[in-house]
Amino acid sequence: MSQHNPYPPTTFDLEHLTRDLDSFALQGRTALLPALHHAQDLYGYLPEEIVTEIGTRMNVPLADVYGVIEFYSMLYHEPVGRKIIRVCTNPPCSTSGGEEVLKLLCKHLEIEPNQTTSDGEWTVESVPCLGLCEHAPAVMMGDLALSRADPYDPSSILSGKITQATSIVGGDIRVLTRHCGKGEPTHIKQYEDSGGYQALRRVFENMSPSDVINDIKASGLVGRGGAAFPTGLKWEGAASVDAVSKYVVCNADESEPGTFKDRVLMEDDPHSVLEGLIIAAYAIGAHHGYLYIRGEYPRATTILEHAIAEAEQKQYLGRNILGTGLDISIEIRRGAGAYICGEETALFESIEGKRGFPRIKPPYPTTHGLFGLPTVINNVETLCNVPHIIRDGPEAFRNYGTSESPGPKLFCLSGDVARPGLYEVPFGVTLRHLIDNLAGGIVGGSPQAVLLGGAAGAFATQADFDVPLTFEDLRNTGLPLGSGVLMAFNDTRDIRQVLKGLAHFFADESCGKCYPCQLGTQRQYEILSRAAAGSPRLGDRDSLDDVGWTMTDASLCGLGQTAASAVLSALDLWPDLLGVTEE
Ligand code: SF4
Repeated sequence: MSQHNPYPPTTFDLEHLTRDLDSFALQGRTALLPALHHAQDLYGYLPEEIVTEIGTRMNVPLADVYGVIEFYSMLYHEPVGRKIIRVCTNPPCSTSGGEEVLKLLCKHLEIEPNQTTSDGEWTVESVPCLGLCEHAPAVMMGDLALSRADPYDPSSILSGKITQATSIVGGDIRVLTRHCGKGEPTHIKQYEDSGGYQALRRVFENMSPSDVINDIKASGLVGRGGAAFPTGLKWEGAASVDAVSKYVVCNADESEPGTFKDRVLMEDDPHSVLEGLIIAAYAIGAHHGYLYIRGEYPRATTILEHAIAEAEQKQYLGRNILGTGLDISIEIRRGAGAYICGEETALFESIEGKRGFPRIKPPYPTTHGLFGLPTVINNVETLCNVPHIIRDGPEAFRNYGTSESPGPKLFCLSGDVARPGLYEVPFGVTLRHLIDNLAGGIVGGSPQAVLLGGAAGAFATQADFDVPLTFEDLRNTGLPLGSGVLMAFNDTRDIRQVLKGLAHFFADESCGKCYPCQLGTQRQYEILSRAAAGSPRLGDRDSLDDVGWTMTDASLCGLGQTAASAVLSALDLWPDLLGVTEE
């Protein structure tokens, strides 16, 4: 935070922190991020005196502690306002007025974006996706997620009186979302009454770990986070390794602009996530699991903390599960504002108390994952499928979708549609069905394009609207399914502005570990900024191709490998998009 705040506290009561640091220190460096979160919750930011105390007590070099603080956008080593307002300025929020919200809010408070008011009350930040895309333009005030902020009424935002964002859910089927969209989380009794934890009982009482893995393999379930790797094979890989310890991790760091499905599942049906994760632990022989939840999801974090306590009370989790003598514990880890931590190995680094730099693969997590030990990491939606497969059988799961893409699928619809929200359908429906029949059609103009798969995805036009949404059909048309993002743009939208927003996102979120991505995302943003401002240069089109393909081919991790994907697809569809005629 750049502006000096004249009212930061100048002395800090260390007594409380010192006492708590003892328990963090016992866990070692892995507790560094939780310790920093805890200190920031106590003092509002992380002053030098506190950082030094944390480094000393936890035996972590001060340079490393600062390295971690600097890496995460939600950790502050300078004073910030007592209340932080985060305004999303990425598509689709920017196309719905996010920039206006930011501008007029700052004007009202007489500050610039990313500054603090002189009384130390408010800090206003421009941030990438808040995972509230169905509520665009989205704003978070402290821990409160606000829906459809009115740029012309900043007072209503500051007073927190605008509608609080809750999930908007629909679709043709309600398997994964059967408890979602009611405005409150499902408590354990409701969950049990509708068949919840029956799969877990079945697993612990009647199934061997290999029986569980065989059912998951027979179902054909593949990862729903974007990579689509077969879940059963992943579990089998980790289960087959002999090791002193193994881990399961739920990747709840969904940060792809346009994606909010995992937030809805965690907030509305937390026990479904837990049941899937506990079954995964049993299947591979792990006794400890982590739920890594992005920092922008405080409500989901609180709800899952409560759900874990409920599950422990019922002996579904903790020591001696259901009297079987087996122990499995689950720990929540809060992220702190770093998109790259959604990459599995970067997430491990973060849990280990380091900056979230991706590792070189191979070796893969199933043999060398968290703390160098065999680890299964699955996305939230993937894990929520597991109880259904075990309870109803793999064949029931295969009744949905196609033979190559079985099961239910969640799609996040946002942008220029009448009813943005989370929609559950079987694999195989068309874009047209989702947009026209479920989401009420394109509004504000005629359809121009739909961005499939999020910032790292590709554009589809009306010519693709009747392609069935399955892995096999999309593969044939060269479109990605990604994590299930469908961001719609009507024909009044300037795609160059959209691309500039996406390019800014990647330039901001590149971790900088490898040059193709570190430099390429910056160059891509510069070129697209020129184009969006209406002053492209001759040669820009070729440069975008060069930069894009270099990043795709030479970057170390998925972020760099897909940072140009939407840009390259747009240039294919609209060769004159930049507004210069190349020789
Ligand atoms: Fe970091 Fe980008 Fe390289 Fe990934 S591709 S390691 S995000 S610099």
